[in-house]
Amino acid sequence: MKRRRKNKRNRGLLLVAFFVVLATIFFTKIVGNSLLGDKDKPEALISSEQPSQEKTNGEKSEEVIQNQEMLILVNKQHAVDASYIPEDLAPIKYFASDRSAQSRFMRQEASEHFHQLVEGAKESGYELVMTTAYRSYEFQNTLYTNYVNKYGQAEADTFSAKPGQSEHQTGLAVDISTPTVQYRLTSELGETAEGQWMAEHAHEYGFILRYPKGKEDITGYQYEPWHLRYVGQPAADEIYEQGITLEEYLEE
Ligand SMILES: [Zn+2]
Repeated sequence: MKRRRKNKRNRGLLLVAFFVVLATIFFTKIVGNSLLGDKDKPEALISSEQPSQEKTNGEKSEEVIQNQEMLILVNKQHAVDASYIPEDLAPIKYFASDRSAQSRFMRQEASEHFHQLVEGAKESGYELVMTTAYRSYEFQNTLYTNYVNKYGQAEADTFSAKPGQSEHQTGLAVDISTPTVQYRLTSELGETAEGQWMAEHAHEYGFILRYPKGKEDITGYQYEPWHLRYVGQPAADEIYEQGITLEEYLEE
């Protein structure tokens, strides 16, 4: 008899606890949200698949959020929305004049650092110019379709990104060439003094060599000594010093 009463009391206590939990969830979800509002949440940046964006929250400073934007990962597994256009595209001063004028832009912070990189190279006696930087989704679509028609899709996929999968759409990537390789995009660049200077010093300006030799299985692209990607500091130094890719850096 006594035991049954105890069981009944336990059940009663359980019910009370259950309602307390329900009430707490209701308060934090419904009432809490309406009090805080959505303005405290960071805006969705580019792709919902961005691992760096998952770490953002309303308490982080603008500087931290900006750094995370510079670390956006775009590759064959992580696409950018077709509609994405960076809001702060700024003109590039140093470019090969026979390439599309549409692409002579990078995001503000990246463009400033690119100019410093070119000026730094010049002090060492090397001339670097941009051939392509920002590419819109439509631009990449045309480019990729042309390559597929010319080389077939399997080969095109080793060196050209599908639209939405190109880093160039983020305004953080830049293809660079030099007079010594007749402003071409060729792996020969890596063997020239200019190419070696870039590989060694780009990180000092916040850039990384995005598609290094021997990392094709991780990046999904062949060796491209001409393609630099702005990631800012301290990421650029760490990636350079550890000899890793952006994919590996973001996994840590
Ligand atoms: Zn490129």
